[in-house]
Formats: sequence, structure tokens, C-alpha cells
Amino acid sequence: MSVAVVGGGAVGLSTALALARHNASVTVFERDTLGSGASGQAAGLCYDAFADDVDAAVAADALTRYRDLDLFEPQPYVWVARDESDATAVREQITGMQKNGVAVDALTPAELGDRYPALDTGGIEVAGLARKAGVLDPDKVVATLAETARKAGATIETESPVSLASTTTVETPDETRTFDAVVVAAGPQTKPLVADVGVSLALKAYRAQALVTEPIDATLPSFYDATREFYWRPKGNALLVGDGAHEVDPRDWDPAADAEFVTRSLDRVEQVTALAPACDRAWAGLCTATPDGAPLAGQAGDGLWVATGWQGHGLMRAPALGNYLAAAVLDRRNPLSEHLPDRVDPTRFDGSEEFAALDDPTRDWDK
Ligand SMILES: Cc1cc2nc3c(=O)[nH]c(=O)nc-3n(C[C@H](O)[C@H](O)[C@H](O)COP(=O)(O)OP(=O)(O)OC[C@H]3O[C@@H](n4cnc5c(N)ncnc54)[C@H](O)[C@@H]3O)c2cc1C
Repeated sequence: MSVAVVGGGAVGLSTALALARHNASVTVFERDTLGSGASGQAAGLCYDAFADDVDAAVAADALTRYRDLDLFEPQPYVWVARDESDATAVREQITGMQKNGVAVDALTPAELGDRYPALDTGGIEVAGLARKAGVLDPDKVVATLAETARKAGATIETESPVSLASTTTVETPDETRTFDAVVVAAGPQTKPLVADVGVSLALKAYRAQALVTEPIDATLPSFYDATREFYWRPKGNALLVGDGAHEVDPRDWDPAADAEFVTRSLDRVEQVTALAPACDRAWAGLCTATPDGAPLAGQAGDGLWVATGWQGHGLMRAPALGNYLAAAVLDRRNPLSEHLPDRVDPTRFDGSEEFAALDDPTRDWDK
């Protein structure tokens, strides 16, 4: 079977790798360089802390695959609540996660402080600790997926923007080629690309920001503050801090971080740790959203498949969803085949839905 994959991010490359491993003839078309979309800009949080059983099954599958590729770096993930309603939500999440077999504990502020003395636990009501969470290096993820896919037989063409002439015909500046199937994993561009062949997707783009501090001298976990709505993860001897999402037009957005985001993020780090590092670098990237917060991953037309709408979770899920999608394209079974098809079916919406990408910009991180 010949398959074109449009988009050289973590999702496109994971799909290409899985297809190639099943002996499909795969060509990846990336309009720019590999990882030049959201995948290269991600924070790299990667955890199994999901209260929903389908999300937990996807996470478990993804983490196993990242471990197998030697890309998963263990790093405990702590999330905290500072008011009663957030605290109730966190306690319920922990109970749900434990039912899914996830290694999480509820910690009192005192227990959290004992474990991480550099954290100021004043004002914290409750904390969850996901013991088997980790982090990824986004550049390494992209490079390893590409190298492994090439070794498995995939062809990867960069600087190769495509449009669709039909659901299975791809046009590059140099050629027009027809495949048995086309998988579009082009981030926010997936929507305009497939619109050209009459497929309407319920997809929006939002802009998320992150920064890396100068080095700090403290041992900290990955951290999400559900009440103050920001997160960080240790990155080398510094912290990567993020928040600040808002809906944008994917054709017209600013990849530079806002000065206000940088000030706010550094203030928050200082409030919770008493550390006051300066900002080393900051940036913004585009995430994708759907009306119900679940991805669009499946068949969208005759021979046409899409994979987008990750709601800020695409990097950590990429190998699981890539394998799932490759199996679906090849009509094979996959461990997630019994959990996912309805949840992620792109045709569950007709594309005309009105919705806000960011009803609750933190919903991605607080599960
Ligand atoms: C600041 C920030 C922090 C984040 N943190 C995390 C995190 O901690 N954990 C997590 O799991 N996720 C995180 N995310 C989300 C994550 O980055 C995305 O969900 C994920 O990278 C999506 O991967 P993708 O392959 O679908 O898309 P992308 O990486 O965007 O790849 C799509 C590719 O398609 C290409 N393309 C577009 N149009 C065409 C065309 N016409 N022809 C050919 N190629 C085309 C683009 O150039 C791009 O390379 C974060 C995102 C941002 C912005």
C-alpha cells in the first residue's frame, strides 16, 4: 500500500514509522523542516496522569512506545490546588487515576514540602503526585522518529509543501502523485488542506507560550498550578515555564512571546519557589482544539485520513495515535482499536460547529 503523510511533526513521523514497519510504502511531505511546527516548540511534558480511562489507555500506550525508543526521561509530575473547588477536583482526579492503575498519590502540603524543600507550599490545599510521569526532549523526539522511520523504509521530503488535488492525490511544487491513502497531520493547516477536497473539520488554533529560565539551583518536579493556571518542567538545570493560551488565526499570529507573559511567568516562579531566575529565551507556538477536546484522528474521506486537534497534548500522545492511525489505514488491529474509534472519529462533527477553542484554557493540563 502506498501512503503519503503530510506533516513532519511528531504525529506525522510516528504514523509514518508505524506504516513503514508494516511494510507500507510511505512518503512524508514536510513543507519546511522536520519539527518546525508545534512539535519543535512543545514543553515536553509526558505523563500518564489521566482520570479518564480512554485517555489513560492512550497515555500508557504512548509512554511504553517512548520508553522503547529511549526517549522518555522519568520526572515526577506534581499538580496543586489552592482553593476548595480546585482541591475537590484534584482529589476526584486522583481517585479516578488510581482506578485506572496510574501511580499517583495525594500529598498534603507538608508532605509536598518535605519532598521538595524548594517549593513554598503556603496556600496549597492539596497536591497530586504522578510518580511515573516524565519529560521528552522535543527535538530528540522528532530526530529519532525521523531516523527510525527512514530505517524502516520511509521516504521523508522536507521543504516540500503540498496541496491536495483529490483525497488521494498530492501536489508538490515539482510533481503530482496519487497514493492509495493520504494522512494529513499538518497541525492547524490540516483544516484548510482538506477543505480543498471538500472535507470540513471542526478545528481551531490557539497560541501557547513558553520560556526557559536561566539556571536555577534547586530540585523541583514538573509542576502544574491548577488555581494560578501555569506549569513548569525542569529542563537541564533551568525551568521551562508555560501558560498564556489564546485563540488566533493560524495564518496571522506572532511566534514571539509577549513581554507580559515573560514577566507574569517569572513572577509566578518566584511566588512558588522564592527563586528569581531571569528569562533565557521565550517563544509561542500553535496548538489545535476541537469542540469536545478530543482529537480528530481517523478517516475523513475516500482514502483520506486526518490526525490533528490535540488540545496541547499531541507530543505526549504521538506514538500511540500514530500507531493507532497506521493500523486503521492498513485495516489492522491495534491495542487502542477498542477504545478510540468513536472518541476520535473526525466525522463526529460536520465542521460547521461554533465553538471557542479556549473555553477553559487550562483543561488540558489539569486532568
Ligand atoms: C508552547 C507549547 C507547549 C506545548 N507543550 C506540550 C507538552 O508539554 N506536551 C505535549 O504533549 N504537547 C505539548 N504541546 C502540544 C504539541 O506541541 C502538539 O500537540 C504536537 O506537537 C502536534 O504535533 P503534530 O505533528 O500534530 O503537529 P506539528 O508539529 O504542528 O506538525 C505539523 C507539520 O505539518 C507541516 N505542514 C503544514 N502544512 C503543510 C503542507 N501544506 N505541506 C507539508 N507540510 C505541512 C508543518 O510545517 C508542521 O511541521 C505544546 C505546544 C506548544 C505550542
